[in-house]
Amino acid sequence: MSVLKSFIAGQWVGEKAAKALPSAVNGDIVAHTHDDTLDFREAVQYGRKVGGKSLMAMDFQERALALKAMAMYLQEHKKELYALSMHTGSTKGDNGIDIDGGFGTLFSYASMGRRELPSGNVLHEGPVIPLGKNNHFAGTHIMVPRGGVAVHIDAYNFPVWGMLEKFAPTFLAGMPSIVKPATSTCYVTELAVRLMQESGALPEGSLQLIIGSTGDLFDHLEEQDVVTFTGSAATARKLKNHPNIINRSIPFNAEADSLNSAILAPDVTPEHEEFDIFVKEIRREMTAKAGQKCTAIRRILVPKDQVNAVCDKLKEQLSKVTVGDPAVEGVRMGALASVDQLEDVKANIQELFKTSELVVGGEGNFKPTGDGTEKGAFIEPHLLLCRNPENGCGAHDIEAFGPVATVIPYDTIEDALELSAKGRGSLVTTLTTRDPAIAARIVPALAAYHGRLHLLNAEAAKESTGHGSPLPMLKHGGPGRAGGGEELGGIRAVHHYLQRTSIQGSPTMLAAVTGEYVRGAELIEYEVHPFRRHFEDLQINESLLTHRRTVTEADIVNFGCLSGDHFYMHFDDIAARESQFGKRIAHGYFVLSAAAGLFVSPGEGPVLANYGLDTLRFIEPVAPGDTIRARLTCKRKIDQGRTSPDGHPQGVVVWDVQVHNQNDEMVASYDILTLVAKKPQ
Ligand code: NDP
Repeated sequence: MSVLKSFIAGQWVGEKAAKALPSAVNGDIVAHTHDDTLDFREAVQYGRKVGGKSLMAMDFQERALALKAMAMYLQEHKKELYALSMHTGSTKGDNGIDIDGGFGTLFSYASMGRRELPSGNVLHEGPVIPLGKNNHFAGTHIMVPRGGVAVHIDAYNFPVWGMLEKFAPTFLAGMPSIVKPATSTCYVTELAVRLMQESGALPEGSLQLIIGSTGDLFDHLEEQDVVTFTGSAATARKLKNHPNIINRSIPFNAEADSLNSAILAPDVTPEHEEFDIFVKEIRREMTAKAGQKCTAIRRILVPKDQVNAVCDKLKEQLSKVTVGDPAVEGVRMGALASVDQLEDVKANIQELFKTSELVVGGEGNFKPTGDGTEKGAFIEPHLLLCRNPENGCGAHDIEAFGPVATVIPYDTIEDALELSAKGRGSLVTTLTTRDPAIAARIVPALAAYHGRLHLLNAEAAKESTGHGSPLPMLKHGGPGRAGGGEELGGIRAVHHYLQRTSIQGSPTMLAAVTGEYVRGAELIEYEVHPFRRHFEDLQINESLLTHRRTVTEADIVNFGCLSGDHFYMHFDDIAARESQFGKRIAHGYFVLSAAAGLFVSPGEGPVLANYGLDTLRFIEPVAPGDTIRARLTCKRKIDQGRTSPDGHPQGVVVWDVQVHNQNDEMVASYDILTLVAKKPQ
C-alpha cells in the first residue's frame, strides 16, 4: 500500500495512510494520502530562510539554467509520469497537454529568462526619467525578489502542468514555492516533485509539497508572501477572504470557473471550410481531458439559421469518439478525475436540462470501453441546445466540468457579443470568421470580457495551437467569474513574484543600484580601449569618448552610391531645401556607420560579434560641414554562461552609444549588443 509523502523542510513526510485515492479508470486504489500532521509554521520559515537563501545565491540567469536542467531530467522520466497519469483518466493526448505541456512551460521560462532577464537579482525596468533640469536627479523602477514564499494551490485536472506553470516563473523570480495539488490526482504531482528533487537542479528549500490539507498554513503567511489558486470560484472566494490574507495585503491570484464560449460568425456557412474547422474545434475541446479544462468551450454561440447544421455535424463528430480506458487502443476520451466529479457533472447536467434539451449523450446504452471501467468515472460527451435563450439559459451560469457544452442561437453578431458577456468574464473565446472586418469590429468589445481571444479561420487553423491551450508566452486568466487573475504571459508572470519599487537619486546612484549605466552617471575612463578588455574586466560606466569627424558632401555621395540609397533628402538639393530641414543632410545610416568607425578598436580582441542594436533614434540632422563624435559606454553585462561555437566562454555586453555634433547636440542615440570573450582560462 503506497502512502504519498509531503516534502516539507527538506524531508519527505508521511507514514500512516489516510485517504485512499482510487483510479478514475477502474476504481483500484492507486495510493493513499498520509495522516501525518505537517508543521506549516516550519514550512514557511524554512521556505523563506533556506529556500530564499539558496535561490538568492543564484541569479536570474543561473535559475533559468536550472529550470532547463529540471525540464530535461523530467523529460527523461516522462514514461513514469505517463504511466501513473493514466489513473487520472487521461489519454495519451491528455498527458501530452498536462505532462509535455508542463515540461514545455519549464523550457519556455528557461529560455525567456536567458533572453530577457539580467545577471544579478535586480531587474531594471526603465526608462530612467530625468527629474531635474541639469540631470543630477532622476527616477526609475527596479523589481526585486519579494523575499517571501509563494503558496500555489492547484486544481485536479492538470497535476503536472498546473504545478509547473506556477512554479517556473516563481523560481525564476527567486521565490521559493510551496505547492498544494488537488488531492484526487496528487499522486502524479508527488512523482513530478520527486523527479525534480532527484534532478539535482532544485536548490534546497526552493520547492515544498503538501499532500492533503493546508491546515493552518494561511495563518503563518506574511506580507512578503504570495498565494495563487486554481479551482472553483467558491474556494477562491473563501481563501481570498481569509483574515490573514486581507489583514496583511497578501497578493492572491485566482483562476476559477469559466464559462468559455465559441462564436460562429454569421459570415460562415456549411459550404465554408471554416464551418468544419469550428465544429472540430468544439469536438476537440469537449473531449480533451474529458472536458475538464478551465478553458474548455461550454457555450457554442451560433447564428439561428445554422443551429441545425451545427448540431447535426457535431452529432456526427461526437459519435466517433470512443470513451473508455485510455490504455485501450482506439480510445479517444478517458474518464473524469474521480467518481465524485462524475456525480458533480451529472448533477450539473440535470440543472442545465431546466433550460436546454439534449442533442447528443444521455445515460442510455453508454458503456465505456475496457475491463473494469464500470467502476470508473466515465461519461459520454453531452451536447445540449438552449433553443430560447431569451427565456433564460443555465449555460451562462452552470459549469459542468466535463465533456458538456450547450449550443445557443443568436440573431445578430451584437447579440452574440451580449450572450458571450453573460459568462461574466471568461478565460477565452474562439471567434470563427472569414471576415477580418467582423473580427476588427467585435474583438475590442469581446476583449473586455476575456483573458484571451482565439481568432479562427482556415489560414490560422493550419497551425493553431487550439482554443484550449494556454501558452507560456501569452497571458492566461480572465476577468470576473474567471477569477480576475493573470498567469503566464512571458516574463510578465515573473513580475508577479517580484516587488516593483521606484527609486530616485543621482544618475551615479541609479547606475550603481540598477547595475546599468544611466546617462549622467560618473564615467570610468581608462587608457585602454574598452573593446580591448575582457568580459570580466569591463565595468559598468566604463566609457570612451572618440575623436571627431567632419562630415562632407563626398561622404554623402559615397555612402549613397555604396548603399544605393539616393533619397532626395541626400541628393536633390532643391527638394532638400524645400523640406523641413532646409538643406541636404547625411543618411542616418551613414551617421551610424561613421560612429562605428569612430568607436571601434579595429585589431583582433575580446569583442567577438556585434549582433544588433536597440532603441535607435536619429535625433538631429547631420549636414555637410557638421562635426560628429561618439561616446561609447558599457551599459549592461549579462553572463548567460554561454560559450562560442569553438568553446570559448563569453558574455553579452550592451553599450550605450551617443553621437553629438559640434554644438553638443545629440544627433543619434542607441544601444549596441555585442558578445565579448571571457579571459582565457
Ligand atoms: P476546489 O476549489 O475544491 O479545489 C481546488 C484546490 O483547492 C484543490 O487543491 C483543493 O484541495 C484546494 N482546496 C479546497 N478547499 C481548500 C481550503 N479550504 N483550503 C485550502 N485549499 C483548498 O475545486 P475542485 O477541485 O473540487 O473542483 C471543483 C470545481 O472547480 C470543478 O468542478 C470546476 O467547476 C472548477 N474547476 C476549475 C478549474 C479551473 O482551472 N478554473 C480547475 C478545476 C476545477 P483538495 O483537492 O485537497 O480539496
